[in-house]
Amino acid sequence: MKKISLKMKLTLLYTLLMSGVVVIILILLFSLSSRQILSSVQSRLRNRVYSASDDIEYDSGRLDFDSDLDDTEWGIYLSVYQEDGTYLYGRTPTGFSNTMAFSDNALRTFRQGNTTYYVLDLYTYVKDYGNVYIRGVASGTDAEEDMIIIRNAALILMPLMVLLTAALSYFMTRYTLRPVSRITETVRQICREKDLSKRVHLGEGKDEIYQLARTFDDMLDQVETGMKREKQFTSDVSHELRTPVSAMMLQCEELLDDPDLDEKTRSGITFLDQKVRYLARMISQLLMLSRTDQGRQKVQMESVDFSEMTDMVVQEAQDMAQERQIRIQADIRPGIHITGDETLLIRMWMNLLENAVRYGKDGGHVHVGLSEKNGFVIGTVEDDGIGIAPEDLPRIWERFYQADTSRSRSDSSGLGLSMVRWIINAHHGTIQAESAPGKGSRFTFKLPVGKSRPPA
Ligand code: ADP
Repeated sequence: MKKISLKMKLTLLYTLLMSGVVVIILILLFSLSSRQILSSVQSRLRNRVYSASDDIEYDSGRLDFDSDLDDTEWGIYLSVYQEDGTYLYGRTPTGFSNTMAFSDNALRTFRQGNTTYYVLDLYTYVKDYGNVYIRGVASGTDAEEDMIIIRNAALILMPLMVLLTAALSYFMTRYTLRPVSRITETVRQICREKDLSKRVHLGEGKDEIYQLARTFDDMLDQVETGMKREKQFTSDVSHELRTPVSAMMLQCEELLDDPDLDEKTRSGITFLDQKVRYLARMISQLLMLSRTDQGRQKVQMESVDFSEMTDMVVQEAQDMAQERQIRIQADIRPGIHITGDETLLIRMWMNLLENAVRYGKDGGHVHVGLSEKNGFVIGTVEDDGIGIAPEDLPRIWERFYQADTSRSRSDSSGLGLSMVRWIINAHHGTIQAESAPGKGSRFTFKLPVGKSRPPA
C-alpha cells in the first residue's frame, strides 16, 4: 500500500465507498419492494375473494354465478366448491394442482415447480343453498419476474457503475491534487537549480492546499531574506577585515626588512606574518565567494594562452613544493588557448596545486597535465599523497569542509575547492575528483576551448 500513489489510494477509497453504498441501497430496495409486492398481491386476493361471495345466488333450485367470477383481473383466479370439496364453478391457473385441503380465511403459500401461488379460501353461506368454499388463487410469478429482471439489470449495471465511479474519482482526485504536484515540482526545482527565488504561486483559493502553498511561499520568502542577509553579512565582514589585515601584512613586511632584528623577534614576526597572510587569503576567498552568491562576481572573458598560464603557475608552485621535497612534473601541450578570466583561472590552478602539495607526501610527486581533445581542454593535477576517503569525496566541494581535520594544515580554510568548482562552472566546464586513501588523488577538469581563439 505504501508504494501506491495518493491519487490511486483516494480513487480506490472513493470507488469502494461508492460501490458499498450502492450495494446496500440496492439490497434494501429489493427487500422492501419484494415485501411490498407480496403484501399488495395478498390484499388484492383478499378483496377479490370477499367480494366474490356477492356474485353467487341460489335461484329456482340452481346456483347462479355472476360472470365477474370468470374475470382474472390482477392475475387472480376464483373457483367455487361444495362443502365436501366438489368443484362447482370457476377457474384456477394452468399448472396449479388443486389438491390443497380447504382452510377458512387463511392465506397460504403454495410452491409448485418454479411458481409460488397464494391461496385464500373463504367458507361462506349462500342463501337458500347452504355453505360453499370460494377459493382465490394468485400466482406470484409476474411480480417475481419483474423483480428478477430488475435484479439482473442491477447486476449488469453494477460493474459499469464501479468503473464509472473509479474513472470519475481518478479524474477528480487528479484535479484536486494538481496543486500538490506543483508544490513538489517547485521544491525539486529549488533543490536542482539552488534557486531560492522560485515560488509555487498557486493564486487565490481558500482550501487547505492553497493555504499550504501560500504558507510554503511565505516560508521561502523568509528563508531567502535570511540567506540574503547572511551573504551580505559575510560580504560586509570580509570587506571590513580586508583593510586592517593588509595594514598588518605591510607592518610585518616592514619589520622583517629591518636587518638589526634579533633572532627571537624575527621568528615571532615571521610566524605572525604567516598567520596574517593566511587570514588575508581566507578573507579574499570569502569575499569572492560571497560576491558569486550575490551574482556580483565579474567574469572578464578574454582570450587566454592557457598553456603559458599553466606553465607560469607550475613555476610559481615549485618553491612551495621544494619545501617538502615534492617534485612537480608538468606535461603541458603548448599553444592551447581558451576564452576565460585570467585572474580566476590562475586562482583555480593555484588552489589545485597548493592542495596537491599540502596533502602530498614529503619527497613525493605531483603531476600536472594539460591537453586538448574534441574541442575541450583537459587539465589534471595528480599527487601521491594522503588521498581522500570515499565518504568524504562527494563533500570536499562544500564550503569549509575539511575531509580530515587532524591532517589539514593550519593554513587551510576549506574554501579552496568550492572556489575551484565555481570558477570551472563559470567557464561552462566540469570537474571531478578521484582518490584512493593513502595512495593519492587526481583532479580532472574539462573546459570548452571557446570560440575566440586567436589566429595561430
Ligand atoms: P582546504 O583549504 O582545507 O584545502 P579545500 O576546499 O581546498 O580546502 O579542500 C577541502 C578538503 O579536501 C581538504 O580539507 C582536504 O581534506 C581535501 N583535499 C583537497 N585536495 C586534496 C588532495 N589533493 N589530497 C587529499 N585531500 C585533499
